[in-house]
Amino acid sequence: MQSIEGMQDLYSLNWLGRFAASLPAGKARQKAVLAEIAALRERLPVSLLAFHDRQAKQKKPSVVRSNGTSCGGCHLRLPMGLTHELRMPGRFVFCPHCSVFNTTDASRAQEAESEKTLKVSLPE
Ligand SMILES: [Zn+2]
Repeated sequence: MQSIEGMQDLYSLNWLGRFAASLPAGKARQKAVLAEIAALRERLPVSLLAFHDRQAKQKKPSVVRSNGTSCGGCHLRLPMGLTHELRMPGRFVFCPHCSVFNTTDASRAQEAESEKTLKVSLPE
């Protein structure tokens, strides 16, 4: 399995993609978000990016937050071996039902915090 840093970048890429799409096109705020997306894409391995783009084309996320027992995408129960893997820090698994990465790292609070930080640092 690859490092969790790549997964967090991939998670941010999903979030930023949705955020950019919700902003008025061509405005400074959207340009800043698009620049952030470009920077993230440069850091991610090509294989992960290719997977992300295939998922995005079908309007699906490439990585979701799991509760530790079921997939955050399709909500089906994950096999025992995968839930065990997910309990270890820094790990992520691939859902055998819907083919999306699952991670339990970073709490919702951290996630909300990073979204807040992002909004503050962006021009209005
Ligand atoms: Zn799934």
